[in-house]
Amino acid sequence: EAKAAGRDRAVTYDAGLRERQLERTELIERLRDALTAGQFSVYYQPIVSLGAGGFDAVEALVRWFPAPGEVIGPDRFIPAAEDSGLIVALGEWVLRQACRDAAGWHRQHGTAVTVNVSPRQLMEPDYAMTVRRALRDAGLPPTALILEITEGMLVGAANQDDRTIAHLSALRREGVRVAVDDFGTGYSSLAYLRDLPIDILKIDRSFLPDGAGPADRQVSFVRTIVDLAHNLGLAAVAEGVETPAQVDLLRGLGCDKGQGFHFGRPVGAAETTEVLAASRTAGAVPIGA
Ligand code: C2E
Ligand code: MG
Ligand code: MG
Ligand code: MG
Repeated sequence: EAKAAGRDRAVTYDAGLRERQLERTELIERLRDALTAGQFSVYYQPIVSLGAGGFDAVEALVRWFPAPGEVIGPDRFIPAAEDSGLIVALGEWVLRQACRDAAGWHRQHGTAVTVNVSPRQLMEPDYAMTVRRALRDAGLPPTALILEITEGMLVGAANQDDRTIAHLSALRREGVRVAVDDFGTGYSSLAYLRDLPIDILKIDRSFLPDGAGPADRQVSFVRTIVDLAHNLGLAAVAEGVETPAQVDLLRGLGCDKGQGFHFGRPVGAAETTEVLAASRTAGAVPIGA
């Protein structure tokens, strides 16, 4: 009887696996169609200078609108896009759209735009050219673009792929900045911070004190990361800032910038234009939250 049950479980497991593979294949097909059909849109979330209070930059965050009134967030489709290689085309589309949207914001308010980049994109031989072309076509200066990469990507790059480093170094010489996203969540040594071409550390939101748990210890972590960034000549940006208490804490620790629902949620390009105009006249008032 135990044997039979085991066999049943095995069958069920295989069926489940096959179903998931089918779902994945279907999702990739749908994503391909969505790109051609223009169903993706780029949203923008402000990044605020904690000292001066201005909106220094906006982060480009992709959204999928598969049908009217329906929206799907990137966590639900970026992994499939990465596995299938579709991220190269999708990522280039996001980059070009973000540069176009940001050109006017930069001219009017000096705002920079920060774009998430997947490892696969940086492995393309012509990635640096793709970025240059996007900047030129949009009329956006390289100094107004920040590329966000994850810690894991840097570790992989440091170990085996110097093409990634070559792209980032070349673009950095031209004025593009590089940020490490979700800093502190990857399993990596500190050597890469010493050796790799980066400008900014984005502190993962899981490090911000949340009012629960041991506050002293949580604060120590944030302080340590901010000091680490500054000692290495990097700017520190806190992600996931949701409360005034977190803003006060980050200011006290000398953290350079903050991003999170407290300052504003990601919104579409038209609304971002309004938000940036309002922030200029009113100072960095919390918006959208
Ligand atoms: P990320 O780059 O770390 O972006 C920050 C995420 O945190 C965004 O989620 C944002 O909406 C969310 N967030 C911002 N402030 C707060 C806050 O105060 N509290 C909380 N709980 N969350 C906050 P989103 O837009 O769902 O994006 C998720 C992830 O998807 C991004 O994380 C990024 O890794 C990836 N992603 C988004 N757009 C792109 C893209 O164009 N290309 C690639 N390769 N990845 C992207
Ligand atoms: Mg990011
Ligand atoms: Mg992040
Ligand atoms: Mg993230």
